[in-house]
Amino acid sequence: MLLKTKGLTKSFLNNLAVNDVSIELSQGEVLSIIGPSGSGKSTLLKLINQLETPDKGEVFIDGVSLQKSSKQIRNQYFQSIGFIFQDFALFEHLTVKENLELSPRIVHKKDRNELKIQTQSLLELVGLPDKLDSYPITLSGGQKQRIAIARALATKPKILLFDEPTSALDVKSIDDLVSIIKKLKAEGIGILIVTHDLRFAKLVSDRLLFMKNSSIILNKDINDIIDID
Ligand code: ADP
Ligand code: ADP
Repeated sequence: MLLKTKGLTKSFLNNLAVNDVSIELSQGEVLSIIGPSGSGKSTLLKLINQLETPDKGEVFIDGVSLQKSSKQIRNQYFQSIGFIFQDFALFEHLTVKENLELSPRIVHKKDRNELKIQTQSLLELVGLPDKLDSYPITLSGGQKQRIAIARALATKPKILLFDEPTSALDVKSIDDLVSIIKKLKAEGIGILIVTHDLRFAKLVSDRLLFMKNSSIILNKDINDIIDID
């Protein structure tokens, strides 16, 4: 199993944000978590991405427990997860090229030529080959998101996490996002999406999880819920 959580639990003071959540994500699978605001979706993503520490429970990547691993191993797994933030969080003072090359330059110490080839192929993958020297401010919301996806891919993650990916997109950009996610799925990347957007979730997902009051209350194969709106 690519990613697994077992009994993940997290409180903030007296506020139980995530309660005993166990999920599984395989290679090439797309999982969406749907639920009202405040149900614990963002906290769950942060626990998986090691931006928060669980009070109880564990996160396993390729069967390895992050909670039982050394800091060095945790750092290694930190790099195997790409995160696409709701507001994209591009570095505004850097060009697209610089945004895409910053992490791999530090993490993998690739040489200039290798990086150039990778950057160009990532931009082609997301359909923006001519934006190399553009600054984020000149891009539309959908284009910024595609650059954020390309940047997340630059360190070759096995898992991608999306936080509310359709919240700032028009209909055309949502279609583009769906086709990019399908391409990444075909490459074997495991994708976990947090969203309010049931229509979008039904278009891209293999499985839907419904979260309410900090818990997963329903876990359904997409073929079993295709008729529900
Ligand atoms: P969702 O993403 O579904 O909107 P969140 O995970 O953001 O839900 O929040 C779940 C609960 O945890 C909410 O009650 C929220 O107020 C609380 N919470 C989230 N992050 C923090 C934090 N850093 N400090 C205190 N409470 C938090
Ligand atoms: P989202 O829309 O992604 O669920 P939110 O708007 O709920 O995000 O939260 C934005 C940020 O504020 C998150 O980092 C979350 O952890 C934090 N947060 C949410 N609720 C609280 C809270 N009650 N106290 C402190 N921080 C919070």
